[in-house]
Amino acid sequence: MSILVQKFGGTSVATAAKILAAAKRAVSAKRSGHQVVMVVSARGHRTDELVDLAAEITDAPPPREMDMLLSTGEQESVALVAMAIQTLGEQAVSLTGGQIGIVTDTSYTKARIRSISTDRMLRALDSGSIVVAAGFQGVDDDLNITTLGRGGSDTTATALAAALRAAECEIYTDVEGVFTTDPRLVPEARKVPRISYDEMLEMASLGAGVMHSRSIEFAKKFAVPLRVRPAYSDDPGTLIAPEGEEQPRVVTGLALAKSEARVTLAGIPDRPGAMALVFSKMSARRIPIDMVVQNVSEAGRAEVSFTVPQSDLADTLTAAGDAVAELGAGEVLSGTNVAKLSAVGSGMRTHSGVAAHMFQALADCGANIQMITTSEIKISTLIAREKCEEALQAVHRAFKLDKPTIEPPGVGVRQKASSADPGSQKRLLSEVVSKLASMEGIVVSDVLLDESQSRVTIHNLPDVPGTSAQLFSAVADGDVMVDMIIQNQSHSGQANVSFTVDRRDLERCLLLVREILTYWPGATLSYEPDIATLSVVGIGLRTHTGVGERMFRTLAEAGINIQLINTSEIRMSAVVAKSEGQRGHAALLAAFETL
Ligand code: ADP
Ligand code: ASP
Ligand code: MG
Repeated sequence: MSILVQKFGGTSVATAAKILAAAKRAVSAKRSGHQVVMVVSARGHRTDELVDLAAEITDAPPPREMDMLLSTGEQESVALVAMAIQTLGEQAVSLTGGQIGIVTDTSYTKARIRSISTDRMLRALDSGSIVVAAGFQGVDDDLNITTLGRGGSDTTATALAAALRAAECEIYTDVEGVFTTDPRLVPEARKVPRISYDEMLEMASLGAGVMHSRSIEFAKKFAVPLRVRPAYSDDPGTLIAPEGEEQPRVVTGLALAKSEARVTLAGIPDRPGAMALVFSKMSARRIPIDMVVQNVSEAGRAEVSFTVPQSDLADTLTAAGDAVAELGAGEVLSGTNVAKLSAVGSGMRTHSGVAAHMFQALADCGANIQMITTSEIKISTLIAREKCEEALQAVHRAFKLDKPTIEPPGVGVRQKASSADPGSQKRLLSEVVSKLASMEGIVVSDVLLDESQSRVTIHNLPDVPGTSAQLFSAVADGDVMVDMIIQNQSHSGQANVSFTVDRRDLERCLLLVREILTYWPGATLSYEPDIATLSVVGIGLRTHTGVGERMFRTLAEAGINIQLINTSEIRMSAVVAKSEGQRGHAALLAAFETL
């Protein structure tokens, strides 16, 4: 008999009527022959209410007591749902995280799952009961109650599905599935029938609130088919699964993280190890940094900028202050009125001109791009917060995401060689997962060296809307495939943009760039024909902050200086001098033990 996990979000169990409807779904799944495990969230806005209540008592609620408090929301729901199932004539048993045997680490309010014992659930299922499990919670080794972070019931559901080897994990929510972007912000957004794990990992970690990003990590690691479905109809929703046979769309969806903050460490010593130190300070506080940009150094001083969720800013500033103190020089700057707008799509691996198209849409709506970072399947831009919703709508229209057949408008058809072999990734993934000490342990499946690229940097570009669009349109029109793009935060009205291109395209690219540079007096060009790109490939790399730390510490210990950095959920890359590539690769392989 196959096991089905059904998760119901807060809105889907908000009232007695909705609780009964959820119970009916589980009962009918059971009667059609499945063993059913329900995972239930706190009702409606219960968790928010409890957070507010604590805030009325203290500005700094102790995290342990916070978890004790918040876990009660789910406990209320499971009891009510189990009662509802019993009124429908089936057996049901409600279980808390501790009773299920979800053991986590002790990091209250953002605990990670170590292990799940399935015995009790399997016994209940075998005796004919529906198991109603409390989402979002676990216990540490001392039986203290922990929670997995806001939205964490999705993670409970996929983790249980993985542990129980469920046939499918269904996530019932208040929308029809995963949309091209948040339908609350863009009413023309459309449901995506199928999305790959990698695309969903990026979307979720870049701000698409529909799924907790750690839940997709479990789904990918343990190959759990995941379906996001409406609780209020029989729509099949969206299947989240491995990349299919179908031609992937160039852009599948857009994500907006409205509450971002940017942080710059300026004037720090330009030596190997500076990045490692910054990453280790952030990692110690579990701050997921993104859009990391290291500027080209001047007079022995380097500068690094990155973004963090605004809620982590205070912690980040403390950590950055510590890093500067340890480095012996530098200052910390920050800004809060920013938002991160990202486009995600597997087709970016094989199509050119996507970035130019996005930058043009932003320019057309007057949004200035403050920072850019890209990775294999995503492009992220940092823009002013007050412009972000208008910009989201403009980019959504530009990629025709509101239309049923999605054609890549203005996007080149030239195939880009994919640097990672998906076959080898799959093979390695199952090996790595089988050796995990903890269910939520870091998964690094590959360490790659790419020596085929060149770096191009344009210094002192005017920091006004349209510059990046003009630059990358010129390059794309000349049929040059751009790989990594990085733009730093500007100073005194000027920005630097770096990108990598295939070595064979470098000459043509330089001609195109020199031509367009005549528009911008004062802008200058530098390039390096031979560079090496080192990448660590895996799952959940950015949010498991330790991966960046280990990568940059390893390179620092090998005395290798990093020129450019890319971070994403599935890949972390660093550009280094070509002469350092082989050595860096060997050091990283040893550090991540993938040999
Ligand atoms: P639940 O309580 O069921 O966990 P959430 O509120 O966490 O529900 O997630 C569902 C909400 O996510 C939707 O109401 C929608 O506004 C928002 N959302 C954000 N991005 C997307 C997206 N790309 N597709 C669908 N919904 C999205
Ligand atoms: N109740 C928790 C929250 O509101 C967990 C969840 O709903 O997934 O964040
Ligand atoms: Mg949710």
